[in-house]
Amino acid sequence: MPTPINAEPRRGYKAIHSSGTRDKAYCQFIVTHCGEAPTAQGMARWFASSASGGSTQLCVDTDVCYQTLPDLTIPWGAPPLNSTGLHCELAGYSAWTPSSWLLRRRMLQRAAWQYARWSIKYQIPVRWLTAAKLRKLTAIPGKGKGGFTSHAEISKAWEKTDHSDPGPGFLTPSGAPTKTVPRILLMSYVKKYRKQMLAPPKPKKKAKPPLSAEQSTRPPNQDREKT
Ligand SMILES: [Zn+2]
Repeated sequence: MPTPINAEPRRGYKAIHSSGTRDKAYCQFIVTHCGEAPTAQGMARWFASSASGGSTQLCVDTDVCYQTLPDLTIPWGAPPLNSTGLHCELAGYSAWTPSSWLLRRRMLQRAAWQYARWSIKYQIPVRWLTAAKLRKLTAIPGKGKGGFTSHAEISKAWEKTDHSDPGPGFLTPSGAPTKTVPRILLMSYVKKYRKQMLAPPKPKKKAKPPLSAEQSTRPPNQDREKT
């Protein structure tokens, strides 16, 4: 059964690899990966096994989201942005075309909901950081100086891994109108959900009492009496 996109992430699988805990001021990047696997549960199970060579905060598919490490546990996601990164694995494949991703808008929305929460909680700016932009930042930027990126951009920026997920079909298909680029759609959902989360609660509408005869006439002009 699909859960609502704003459902709390499921637990039940604890990733086996991690590098201790961090202060919340360190959470400055939101990093999108794809797991080369079809389901969130399958990925969560994989990260719980010693055979896995990495780990992540979230595993997301169209129906459900699993959290395999708490936010403040340092994952093995994509060096050098492990101590400063909140990492998320989407179910899917780097070889996918944009249309394969766009068939799974619900997964993008589900990830975006969690990203919007993170960006508010840890004051992470909603901006996409390409490899060129990442290179201008240190791996540990000041608070509010990070942003959103992908494993592919991190690999390009610092060449510590050769992973290129979530792949060119997700990131920057050439010549496609921007609304068909999954990455851009994902960011538009993040902005939308942030707005919803930050909107002040709507005041309850009260029925206005009818005006009395006295209230409905204009008060006399008292200024005139002062002259
Ligand atoms: Zn990755």
